Amino acid sequence: MLFTPTVVKNLLKRPATRNYPSVVRDPFPNFRGELVMDIDRCIFCGMCERKCPSQCITVDRQKGTWSCDLHACISCGYCRDNCPTKCLTMKDTHRKPLTERAVWIEQGTPPKPKKKAAPKKEAAAEAPAEKATAEEKPAEKKAPAKKKGDE
Ligand code: SF4
Ligand code: SF4
Repeated sequence: MLFTPTVVKNLLKRPATRNYPSVVRDPFPNFRGELVMDIDRCIFCGMCERKCPSQCITVDRQKGTWSCDLHACISCGYCRDNCPTKCLTMKDTHRKPLTERAVWIEQGTPPKPKKKAAPKKEAAAEAPAEKATAEEKPAEKKAPAKKKGDE
């Protein structure tokens, strides 16, 4: 049998996988573990939502909520890398295994709506002045009618 040596070798070797969460691997440099969110620093720009390749982040600017579907997250770290305020970080430990589908929701303070720019006082004050100036201008002289023989 050609595969007998491979079978024997695999029987004698330790398994390549670990019995997580009973056995946990020690973290290594640049390990991407549990995602951590500091909602107080979030400006609800939506960059993480746009960059997430598994589309598991939802940002609601009006309600001030940030949510993540934990079952869809692949721990790629793109959201963390692209967050302008650095409110997303990653621990060097795995998050706990989940037995039920869960959506992680953070409630923050919705950003205040931008006020419409008020009309400038100077512009408003200048408008009537311009009107008055136009009224003061003398009427333009009409060109004299051409007489016969002038041509
Ligand atoms: S990228 Fe950062 S600041 Fe922007 S919505 Fe996401 S978590 Fe908030
Ligand atoms: S780590 Fe990756 S998959 Fe998970 S929420 Fe961030 S961008 Fe999405």
